[in-house]
Amino acid sequence: MNYDVIIVGAGPGGIFAAYELMQKKPDLKVAVFEAGHALDKRRCPIDGVKIKSCIGCKSCSIMSGFGGAGAFSDGKYNITNDFGGTLYEYIGKKQALELMHYVDEINLKYGGEGTKLYSTAGSRFKTMCIQNDLHLLDASVRHLGTDINYIVLENIYAHLKDKVEFFFDTHVDSVKIIPGGYAVKCGDETYSCHKCIISVGRIGSKWMEKICKDLDIPTKSNRVDIGVRVELPAAVFAHLTDELYESKIVYRTEKYGDKVRTFCMNPKGAVVNENTNGIITVNGHSYEDPARQTENTNFALLVSKHFSEPFKDSNGYGESIARLSNMLGGGVIVQRFGDLIRGRRSTPARIEEAFITPTLNATPGDLSLVLPKRLLDGIIEMIYALDKVAPGTANEDTLLYGVEVKFYNMEVKVDEHLETCYPGLYIIGDGSGITHSLSHASASGIHVARKIAN
Ligand SMILES: Cc1cc2nc3c(=O)[nH]c(=O)nc-3n(C[C@H](O)[C@H](O)[C@H](O)COP(=O)(O)OP(=O)(O)OC[C@H]3O[C@@H](n4cnc5c(N)ncnc54)[C@H](O)[C@@H]3O)c2cc1C
Repeated sequence: MNYDVIIVGAGPGGIFAAYELMQKKPDLKVAVFEAGHALDKRRCPIDGVKIKSCIGCKSCSIMSGFGGAGAFSDGKYNITNDFGGTLYEYIGKKQALELMHYVDEINLKYGGEGTKLYSTAGSRFKTMCIQNDLHLLDASVRHLGTDINYIVLENIYAHLKDKVEFFFDTHVDSVKIIPGGYAVKCGDETYSCHKCIISVGRIGSKWMEKICKDLDIPTKSNRVDIGVRVELPAAVFAHLTDELYESKIVYRTEKYGDKVRTFCMNPKGAVVNENTNGIITVNGHSYEDPARQTENTNFALLVSKHFSEPFKDSNGYGESIARLSNMLGGGVIVQRFGDLIRGRRSTPARIEEAFITPTLNATPGDLSLVLPKRLLDGIIEMIYALDKVAPGTANEDTLLYGVEVKFYNMEVKVDEHLETCYPGLYIIGDGSGITHSLSHASASGIHVARKIAN
C-alpha cells in the first residue's frame, strides 16, 4: 500500500481528519488529494472592476482548494446541535458538542485567539422573537471572520505540510475496492491505501453520487433550501448582531405552513457570488478587521423544500431555479423589496437611487420571475415578521439578491463511525449529507480520525 490513509478533499472535514490523525498517530502515512489549489494560489478573479461576475474558472477558488468551501467564508463556527447538520444523530449530542468545542480550541491555538464567542444563552431576544411568532435557535458562535479564518488555515497547513503529503490540483476520479484497502485513481496515477476518508463537500456532490452508485452504497435525498440574500443597513440588525453576531431565526408561514429561516448572517459584510457546478448563486461573508467592514448587513432567507415520492431530485429542482436567475440576469439578480412588492422589476436607476449601496454587482431584475410563488410568498411573509423585531427590514430599499440555494448532498448510509458498508471507507463532512457547516464538518473529521487511530 502507498499510504495508511488517503483523504479525498482538503476542506475542513479533510483537514481536521488529517490534523487529528497526526496528533494521535504521527507515524501513519497519510496523503490528502485536493482538486483545487493550495491556499496561497486560491484567488477568485472577480475584482469588481475588470471582472465583475463569475467567469466559471475550471477550479472555483471560492469552493475548492485547501480550506474547501470554508476558506473565504465568514469563518462562523456554530457550536450547536440545533443546526449545521445532523452529526449528533450518528455520534450523540454530547460527543458532537465536545468535538465542536475541540475544533474551536484548535482554531484558537492556530491564530483564532482573541476572536469573539457569541451566545444566545439567556438572551432577551428569545422572548422578543417568540412574542412575534419567530423562533431564535440556541447556539454559541465563534466568529473568526474571513481574514482570521485564512490565517488559521495558513497556520494549520504550515503545521501539517511536513507530516502529511498534500497533492493539490489533483482530482480523484474514482475510488475502487482492492484486497486489504482502496485504490484511488487520479488521472493516470493510482494510489493505494488501507483506509480512505472521503470529504468532498458540496462541490463534490455529483461525484459522490457516482461513487455511491458504483460501489452500491445506499443514499437518500429529498431536501433543498431556496431563497434570497437580504442586504440592509447594518443599523437595522445592529441590536441583534452586536449581541449575538448571528441569529438563526425560524418562522412558519401562515399561508402554507412552510418553514423560512435566516441563515449565514454577516454583520457589516459583503454579498458574494458562489459557483456550484457552473451555476451562479449568492452567498455572503464579513471581515473581523473593522477596516474591511461595510455599512451593510446581509443574511439569507431560505425556505426548506422537502419533496415526497415520486420526486427524488431535490437538488435538480434547486438548480433549475438558480439556472433561471442566471438565464435572466446572466448571474445573480438584485431587486429592491419595494419594487418586488409593487410588482415591478428593479432597474439600474432604481438601485442607484436607493439609500443603500449594494456590495455585490448583480443585475437589477425581478425575482418574481424566478422564484415559485409559494417560496416568494414565504420570504415576503418572513420579511414582514422580521420587521417587528428589527424594524426597517421591510423598508423599500432593502435589497434581495437571488437566488440563494443550499444544496444538500444526498445522505450516504454510514454507521456511528461514519463508516460505509465497506470497512475502512469513511464519508464525512458536507459530502456525506450529514453536515452542512464548518464546525460539524470539522468535527466529523476528528471523529473518524480518532476511530482510525484507535
Ligand atoms: C461563501 C461561503 C460561506 C460560508 N460560510 C460559512 C460559515 O460562516 N459558517 C459555516 O458553518 N459554514 C459556512 N459555509 C459552509 C462551509 O464552508 C461548509 O459547510 C464546509 O466547508 C464543509 O466542509 P467539507 O470539508 O465537508 O467540504 P468543503 O469545504 O466543500 O471541501 C471539500 C473539498 O473537496 C474537494 N474535492 C471535491 N471533489 C473532489 C475530488 N473528486 N477529488 C479531490 N478533491 C475533491 C473540493 O475541491 C473541496 O476543496 C460557507 C460556504 C460558502 C461557499
